[in-house]
Amino acid sequence: MIISYKYRAYPDAPVETRLHETLDTCRWLYNKLLEECNTARENGLSPTMRGMQARIVTLKDENPFLKIVYSKVLQMVNYTLWSNIAALSQTKKRGRKIGKLRFKGAFRYRTLNYNQSGFKIDREHSMIAFSKIGTIPFTMHRPYIGKVKGVLITRSGDRWYVIVQAEQEASASKREGRSVGIDVGLSSFAVDSEGAVIENPRFYEHSLDRIRKLQQSIARKKRFSQNWKKAKKRLEKTYDHITNQKKDFLHKLSRQYVDTYATICVEDLNIKGLKEKSNSKGLHRSIHDASWGRFYFYLAYKAESAGTNLIKVDPRNTSQMCSNCGSIVKKNLSERVHECPYCGFVADRDYNAAENIHRVGMEQPFEPVETIPLHHISVMQVLSMKQEATPFRAG
Ligand SMILES: [Zn+2]
Repeated sequence: MIISYKYRAYPDAPVETRLHETLDTCRWLYNKLLEECNTARENGLSPTMRGMQARIVTLKDENPFLKIVYSKVLQMVNYTLWSNIAALSQTKKRGRKIGKLRFKGAFRYRTLNYNQSGFKIDREHSMIAFSKIGTIPFTMHRPYIGKVKGVLITRSGDRWYVIVQAEQEASASKREGRSVGIDVGLSSFAVDSEGAVIENPRFYEHSLDRIRKLQQSIARKKRFSQNWKKAKKRLEKTYDHITNQKKDFLHKLSRQYVDTYATICVEDLNIKGLKEKSNSKGLHRSIHDASWGRFYFYLAYKAESAGTNLIKVDPRNTSQMCSNCGSIVKKNLSERVHECPYCGFVADRDYNAAENIHRVGMEQPFEPVETIPLHHISVMQVLSMKQEATPFRAG
């Protein structure tokens, strides 16, 4: 499993110039190869990725700038082109109307791909040396784990990022011990079968005043003026901050679950039944979906390296079924309490769902469910949990 870690990078002025030059050369190559592919096809030929690979060598006479770009990076330009071609034909096969692959304009080409070689990471000083580019410092806010397979350098606006792609090895042995079922919800972020209720983080709502003020201040300023740019940057920074808070929350929560339990049962997000959980919630729904998805993803890869079993269960009926007797007790989203008319079991709606997820995941028969008092875990408590377990101590 390859995991990507994205870090903000800070090239100095000469290195930044070099990055722009290299991106421009790669863009030229991309467009050139695409053009030659198109011409070949128009003449009834079938160009191949391998053929184009060989073409890069002869193009170096046509454009001497190609000689000062790391050769693997040039190969990856061709690789990207062919991935795009493959993706396009996939879309075509699915019956969608599509045009041709487009040539990349000056601001559309943003990423250099150092695959397997040409880079050297100095973890201790948070720097990466790139062949034919130079050394770039970066902030490793979260240490990457595993063997590095490649590094991308990418530009977004006037910011630079490095993306470290590391291979995570699965743990050889599965753990034994306690198991838990987790239900993600709307009124709280999650409720588990041990009775923990995780508060919903509201980082965006908490920053809303600041965002509105910054938006107003941008609106008052002259477009593209220095002050306008500054205000824009401040707003961007606020959004970045919210994203980081959210990720931090999800990382710490998933870490806590993986460290505590040997088996974790969650709903399978790929099955449509999850719709019953969040229908007609509009925008809020999609925000929830996104953070649930990220939470499950973090759980999955942390579990894999820790030897924790992650079991995904069919989400159909997890909230409607009585976890005590198995009867279907219909309720709509606004009903927060599960009250079974058949066996008399009363519980918090999400706790009942977590119990079902746990029972289905562990393939256990129905047995009387303990009615336990739920305990609330605040966002602050989650944020003060320990960071990613790091394989070694830095510095
Ligand atoms: Zn019941």
